[in-house]
Amino acid sequence: MFKKMDLSDNKTQKKSEGGAEKVKCLIIGSGPAGYTAAIYAARANLNPVLYEGLQPGGQLTTTTEVENFPGYPDGITGPEMMEDFAKQAKRFGTDVRFGLASAADLSAAPFKITIDNSKIIKAESLIIATGATAKYIGLESEKKYMGSGVSACATCDGFFYKNLDVAVVGGGDTAAEESLYLSGICRKVYLIIRKDHMRASKVMQERVMNRKNITVLYEHVTREILGTNGVVTGVLLINSKGEEVRVDVSGFFVAIGHLPNSAIFKDYLDTDETGYIKTLPGSSKTNIEGVFACGDVMDPHYRQAVTAAGTGCMAAMDAERYLGTREI
Ligand code: NDP
Repeated sequence: MFKKMDLSDNKTQKKSEGGAEKVKCLIIGSGPAGYTAAIYAARANLNPVLYEGLQPGGQLTTTTEVENFPGYPDGITGPEMMEDFAKQAKRFGTDVRFGLASAADLSAAPFKITIDNSKIIKAESLIIATGATAKYIGLESEKKYMGSGVSACATCDGFFYKNLDVAVVGGGDTAAEESLYLSGICRKVYLIIRKDHMRASKVMQERVMNRKNITVLYEHVTREILGTNGVVTGVLLINSKGEEVRVDVSGFFVAIGHLPNSAIFKDYLDTDETGYIKTLPGSSKTNIEGVFACGDVMDPHYRQAVTAAGTGCMAAMDAERYLGTREI
């Protein structure tokens, strides 16, 4: 039997100190990790304040069907699932706010986090759940046609290419998923893979192979995105023999992985060479006491909604134990 919480004084427990708002538990990020941390922190009476960041709901809001999150036997769309997460976090009193953490001073507790380059929050404990952002190939032409033919989100932009031909670059699960999604909207999808095999899971590979309007081009590297009058008209590839191959497409979708959103913490926190925040094995603890990391910003291996949620739970429990040892 669960004990009912008293949330009546939730707001009043946030103190103001030296012009800055002081909170017990600050959560940055609104993906499965951030919201799960919020659910646990709120139920533990930590009065969490959660800043949503640039993409409220996180990466799952750009995904179509989620079929592998336990508890949804028929699957659910990413945006719907994230609405459920948010509702559950709010139900227990999480103060969910729109805003982006733009700077961090983790030199001493309370940690100072700047929101939207203006407001400063002093946090007794900090849970970083800022996730990861889509990577781009790095071509000039990719930048040039961004938003007018180049995209990193099929769910967001696929509709604009209805009955047209498009290309997707990447060989992982994201590229497979984006290709499958686009194949339901577009006339033809070229999946461009630089190796002679896909990295995607077997089930996703099978689905791609069984989809008639997806053509997989193995051992092809993207050299240039072509266009006229500011819109994409094709993509220039180099095959394994060094030959140029031109494919006529109206849209080019980049699905080659992600970068962790840890830049504002890099002066304080230990990260790996890509920027993933290092945590103590088996915990969400970073190299700074009172600062915890969860979800894709600290996980280069699994990067699943369910693992992100799991580490979000760990972060809230670690924060609760840490706060329990301190006088607030
Ligand atoms: P991955 O890192 O798994 O795959 C990236 C792919 O992009 C690789 O095939 C890589 O090629 C290729 N690539 C990287 N850089 C370039 C480049 N410059 N030019 C061309 N190709 C490039 O990233 P994903 O985003 O696909 O997946 C991340 C994690 O999320 C995985 O663990 C995946 O399983 C999971 N995921 C699960 C989903 C699901 O279950 N529904 C959906 C989406 C993701 P190479 O192999 O040569 O390095």
